[in-house]
Amino acid sequence: MNPSIAIIGAGVSGLYAASLLIDKGYDVTVFEARDRIGGRVLSHDGFDLGPTWYWPDTEKTMVRLVDQLDLQVFPQQATGDLMLERQFGVIERHTLPPGHVVPSMRLVGGMASLTTALAATLPPHTIQLQSTVTSMRQVERGVAIELERGETETFTHAILAIPPRLISRIAFQPELSETTKAKLASIPTWMAGQAKVLAVYDHPFWRDQGQSGQGMSWAGVLQEVHDASQPDGLAALFGFFRLPATERALLERDELNRRVIDQLVRLFGEEARHPRDVLFVDWASDRYTATVEDTAPMIDFPVYGPIPVDAGWAKYLSFAGTETDSFFGGHVEGALRSAIRVVEPF
Ligand SMILES: Cc1cc2nc3c(=O)[nH]c(=O)nc-3n(C[C@H](O)[C@H](O)[C@H](O)COP(=O)(O)OP(=O)(O)OC[C@H]3O[C@@H](n4cnc5c(N)ncnc54)[C@H](O)[C@@H]3O)c2cc1C
Repeated sequence: MNPSIAIIGAGVSGLYAASLLIDKGYDVTVFEARDRIGGRVLSHDGFDLGPTWYWPDTEKTMVRLVDQLDLQVFPQQATGDLMLERQFGVIERHTLPPGHVVPSMRLVGGMASLTTALAATLPPHTIQLQSTVTSMRQVERGVAIELERGETETFTHAILAIPPRLISRIAFQPELSETTKAKLASIPTWMAGQAKVLAVYDHPFWRDQGQSGQGMSWAGVLQEVHDASQPDGLAALFGFFRLPATERALLERDELNRRVIDQLVRLFGEEARHPRDVLFVDWASDRYTATVEDTAPMIDFPVYGPIPVDAGWAKYLSFAGTETDSFFGGHVEGALRSAIRVVEPF
C-alpha cells in the first residue's frame, strides 16, 4: 500500500496540513462533512461570519502564510470614539488613548480568501465534500475510514482536524481509552457557543460622526460591536452576542434582528435603522462545529494544547485543529500551528 494520509476536516488546520503533506510528496485525501471548505471560516461576499482578524505582532505563522499565498490585507478600522451601553439605557461615548487596541489585520475578500488559497495548492480531487467520517478501524498496516454514506477507504495514517468534542461521534475500533474520551469531551470548542450578526450599509456613517464603530454593551443582545466594512466596498457593523445560545434559540429571526438593529440605533444613531442587509450565523446550532455542551457561555479562556494519542493508535492517528495548539489555541494561528506540528514527523 502507498503511504497515504487521510485528513478529516477541511478547516484551516486540515487544509494547511494537506498542503504541507503534499509538499512532502504524500498522497492525501481530505474528508469534509459539509458541502463547503473552511469550517469555522465563513465569508459571505467578503463579509466574515466566522473569524475576521489576525494579529500580526504575534501571529507569525499567519503573517508568513499570507505573504506566501500573496493575499491582500488591510488593518481593522479602530479610529474614533467607542460607544458604551450601560444598564438602564445609559449610553456613553469614550475617546480612548492612542494605541488602546492591539492592531489586527483583515483579509480582502474575508478570511475565506485564506482557505480558498490553501485549497488551491492541493491537487484536484484531494478534498471530498459531503463526506462525513463515522468510523475508524485499524486494519493490517493501516486505518480503514468509513463514511456516513457507507464507503470505506484505507490509509496508512489519519489526521483528525475537527473540534475535539466532535470526535465522540466517530466509532473507533479498537476503542479509544476512557481517559482519551474524557479528555476530548472536556475541551470546549472555541467560539462554538457564539453567533455573529452583520448589518450592511452603503456608507460607514459612524465614521462621519467620529465613531470607530466599536461598541460595548452590558445591556443589549450584543456584547461587542466592530466596524466590518470592506475597503472600497460596502460598510458594515458586526456584533458578537451577549444573549446566550439557549435564549437566542427561543427567538424568531425577525425578532432577533429587530433587537440587534434597535441596539445599533441606540449606539450609533438613527442612520443604523435601515441596513441594506442583515447576515447572521449561529454557530451554536451548527452540528459540524458545536455540541450541546458548547451552548453554555465560556467564562474563561480554555487551556488548549496537544492531545496525547493512545499508544495503540499512535502509529495510525494524530489530533490537529486549533484546540490542540498550546500558544494560539482558538485562533486561526493555532489551527495553522497545529497542522505544522502534526505533519512534522512525516
Ligand atoms: C464567530 C467566530 C469568530 C472567530 N473570530 C476569530 C478571529 O477573529 N480570529 C481568529 O484567529 N480566530 C477566530 N475564530 C476561531 C477560528 O475560526 C478557528 O480557530 C479556526 O477556524 C479553526 O480551524 P480548525 O481547522 O481547527 O477547525 P474547524 O474550522 O472547525 O474545521 C473542522 C472541519 O471539520 C469538519 N468536520 C467535523 N466533523 C467531521 C466529520 N466527522 N467528518 C468530516 N468532516 C468533519 C467540519 O465541517 C469543519 O469543516 C472565530 C470563530 C468563530 C466561530
